[in-house]
Amino acid sequence: MDEKDLKYGLFADAPDLVDTIPALGKLKKACPAYISRAEKAQCIARKFAREEMLPRVLAIDTRCSKDPQYVDWDLWRKANDLKLNIAAVPVKMGGLGWSALDNAVLVEELSSVCLANAANITFNTFGLLGALVECKTDIVLNIIRMMVDAQKKGEPLFWSWAITEPSAGTDMEDGEAMAQMKASTSARKVPGGYRLNGTKCFITNGSLAHYVIATIPMDPSHPKESMATFFVPTTTKGFSVGRIERKCGQKASQTAEIFFDDVFVPEENLWEPPGRGLRHTREILSITRGYIGLCGVAMARGALDHCIRFANQKKRNGHMLLDEDWVKFAIADMMKDIMAVRAACYNFAIALDTSHIWSLFEKLPIKASLKILPGKMILGDALLNLSRLKPVRLLGSKYKGSIVSDRMVEKFVTEGSALKVAGTDLAVRVGSRVLDIVGLEGMAYDLGMEKYFRDAKVTQIYEGSNQANRIDLFHNTIGTLR
Ligand SMILES: Cc1cc2nc3c(=O)[nH]c(=O)nc-3n(C[C@H](O)[C@H](O)[C@H](O)COP(=O)(O)OP(=O)(O)OC[C@H]3O[C@@H](n4cnc5c(N)ncnc54)[C@H](O)[C@@H]3O)c2cc1C
Repeated sequence: MDEKDLKYGLFADAPDLVDTIPALGKLKKACPAYISRAEKAQCIARKFAREEMLPRVLAIDTRCSKDPQYVDWDLWRKANDLKLNIAAVPVKMGGLGWSALDNAVLVEELSSVCLANAANITFNTFGLLGALVECKTDIVLNIIRMMVDAQKKGEPLFWSWAITEPSAGTDMEDGEAMAQMKASTSARKVPGGYRLNGTKCFITNGSLAHYVIATIPMDPSHPKESMATFFVPTTTKGFSVGRIERKCGQKASQTAEIFFDDVFVPEENLWEPPGRGLRHTREILSITRGYIGLCGVAMARGALDHCIRFANQKKRNGHMLLDEDWVKFAIADMMKDIMAVRAACYNFAIALDTSHIWSLFEKLPIKASLKILPGKMILGDALLNLSRLKPVRLLGSKYKGSIVSDRMVEKFVTEGSALKVAGTDLAVRVGSRVLDIVGLEGMAYDLGMEKYFRDAKVTQIYEGSNQANRIDLFHNTIGTLR
């Protein structure tokens, strides 16, 4: 088969979104602007992934194996120039105004080439996500202002979300498990704020972060009842970074230990009061788990793309490997799983747009404000000062609370858990099966296929281990059976 006839995945002519997910084609008739923007996002993201990421990801991976602190800042700057790291920020405020669907497209395209480098670019939306979950007006405006300012200056601005501790990983994400655990971090009330102590570990971008959103209990022996969420600038005295982990995969995405040694956090940086920390965690998970499922699908797609290309070029017994029936059968088998889970992930992204925090941007008061107010004014000092007044501050979070209920968060966690397990298990399965097809040459680093397998394995662990996600899924759908 001619290379140009291989119109699948990485090699397809963009945009192929509505061709590969027919439901989006149907939706395009009802909401043309919504789907057209997603198609445009696919063109931009695919071009960046193919032209900027693909030629260098293996070299970055090699470099990071030797030096876990290495970051390809040139690649990061190119993404920053395209505003891919502030894609979710509304256009009026300086971003691309990309919806949850558009961001899903971005995450998929970049992760199909390299999840670790995709993480360095797209996980920057984390600050915005944490702020939107809070939805206190001053927090949201302030975070967006910082993101937009940094993007304009071409300066990196990284955020970390720190929940895992040496004594608690899964336990920090689940109410029942948390009730049993003993936390190794603690916070105590002092005049004007709080003092934080303890260690968090395996924190993505912990070594690069300018701000950390940390979940820490006031009483380590009663974490569930006393867990609070703090916003910590990493320049604060007492904050330090420990070991950067050497991982089997996703080497270009730094994962680090962070230490809190009597770190002072002022009252206004208490994002969630004691007892509300787990709720904050669950709401973030209700969004991120679905996206990690899509990262899994993307890696499976990328690995399969490489495999198809290889099998189309490799001669065996006088014909191409791709012409063997067993190879066609195996590829079709993998494709059907990718198609099914991918469609489910896009369903999830559309649900985020229609019913979760992304829907806020479509609500009349916010849509109208974004339309009427001049861009400079929205992120200006006057509005920011106004948003700090207590009644205004709480208005946003009250409004959001009326849209995103606790019950709805748990429904999204359930669906997200299903996708996270389905997508990341698929990535490992496909990552392994394509290596079986390719054979010995697949073991070679330069072919770029064994990297998918290594990267995929890591996703089964984070955002809650897949076992923990299965337990979550069971509890939230069937309940606790005795
Ligand atoms: C690359 C990477 C990036 C990460 N980034 C972050 C980050 O940015 N922020 C952050 O906070 N954390 C992060 N983590 C940590 C990650 O979320 C945890 O590793 C994960 O939650 C699992 O926790 P654990 O490793 O402590 O395993 P444990 O919780 O100790 O689990 C060990 C084993 O026991 C099983 N298990 C645990 N509890 C139960 C239970 N109740 N019932 C049955 N089985 C159970 C698990 O499934 C697993 O098989 C990251 C991890 C990695 C590898």
